[in-house]
Amino acid sequence: MRFFGSYKLCSMHNITIDHLLQLDQQQVWHPYASMTQSPPVYLVESAQGVRLKLADGRELIDGMSSWWSVIHGYNHPRLNQAIRQQLDKTAHVMFGGLSHEPAIRLAEKLVELTPAALQQVFFSDSGSVAVEVALKMAIQYWHAQGQPQKNKMLTIRSGYHGDTFAAMSVCDPVTGMHELFTDVLTPQFFADAPQCRFDETWDESDIQSMQQLLQSHHGEIAAVIMEPIVQGAGGMRFYSPHYLRRARELCDEYDVLLILDEIATNFGRTGKLFACEHAAVTPDIMCLGKALTGGYMTLAATLTTDRVSQGICNAKPGVFMHGPTFMANPLACSVALASIDLLLASPWQEQVRHIEDQLKQLLAPTLAYDHVADMRVLGGIGVIETQRPVKMQEITTAFVNAGIWVRPFGKLVYLMPPFVIEDIDLTLLTNGLVKVLADESLLMT
Ligand SMILES: *Cc1c(COP(=O)(O)O)cnc(C)c1O
Repeated sequence: MRFFGSYKLCSMHNITIDHLLQLDQQQVWHPYASMTQSPPVYLVESAQGVRLKLADGRELIDGMSSWWSVIHGYNHPRLNQAIRQQLDKTAHVMFGGLSHEPAIRLAEKLVELTPAALQQVFFSDSGSVAVEVALKMAIQYWHAQGQPQKNKMLTIRSGYHGDTFAAMSVCDPVTGMHELFTDVLTPQFFADAPQCRFDETWDESDIQSMQQLLQSHHGEIAAVIMEPIVQGAGGMRFYSPHYLRRARELCDEYDVLLILDEIATNFGRTGKLFACEHAAVTPDIMCLGKALTGGYMTLAATLTTDRVSQGICNAKPGVFMHGPTFMANPLACSVALASIDLLLASPWQEQVRHIEDQLKQLLAPTLAYDHVADMRVLGGIGVIETQRPVKMQEITTAFVNAGIWVRPFGKLVYLMPPFVIEDIDLTLLTNGLVKVLADESLLMT
């Protein structure tokens, strides 16, 4: 079932590697990176299964799934084939006035898999844009209802929804990495982050902050936007499904739409196909991305209900005001379809549950370290929270020397491996992590 192709070992000479890395350092900006004091980057020559092959010949076991997305592993023959087949037909065609089978079939599939009320799909090119689209849908919906003053968002602290301007406005104002832009962002409403953890008994006081904000401001609020169950880049927190159920009830009570940003959680990562299933909650608008194409191409989708789409289109201007140039790119839609088929044909529930059990067991030794504050696992996500932020460069070097690829931020060291990872590789990955984390000098003082 699993595919192990052969690959060339090191095809680049050291001189080329050094030259490329030098050019990279001078000219290529990396995510959240300095252009004057660039930390080292590692040149990837190829990747196969759960292994990244560096140009210098070293191999790293991937603990990140390239930021939640590569759920089937790298260089998968079925996904490669889907792109090749579509490439021979057309790589791209504009979506204004034209359509194509991959987009139509993908929309049909997404509508089938997501909660029943979600019936329409708007494709875009990245998660941040899918969030922008969701926010615009909510605002345009209330505008069409003759309530243009309902144009603010309510969200929960510790959230992350992307790096574009409207998405930044609903990220956590402190941990959301956008503090310096505060003055130019649209002010939004922030409820306290849920404190009830995933497995904890529900405490109704947890929802009070959201309830009070809705009670006082629902006349100005278009939607509540939140990540369901797992707050990702804003803190790697897992909260009680009951919080989500209460949020849905409050949105109904105060006539506010609910937007669920499933971009990090979608397609099985939390043990359910979509994280909202943990609470049996249906949003009015849902954002998908990251694992949508199995990590092959950039593609995102915003789904909504008949109520919202008809609400928008039955009033002036009668159309939804958004349209990206590369909307519904056929290569991306084709590989997304293949990725979803692959997922549904695989025993992904057992795989994710097995990863969850293994992570709980294998990461437990870190709890004995004084400098580790917390360890938590949900589905295919394992998080170790340290007492102080890690020294990024030093800890990255240590991980690479241990043969694993892990990219922490702040006090959060976390794993979300591809679903296809074998026991032996997951053990290598977690053992490496546990060993590296034993060294307290890798934390800031
Ligand atoms: C990554 C992420 C985004 C942004 O997606 P991009 O593709 O990076 O623009 C939005 N929301 C959540 C929950 C995410 O994890």
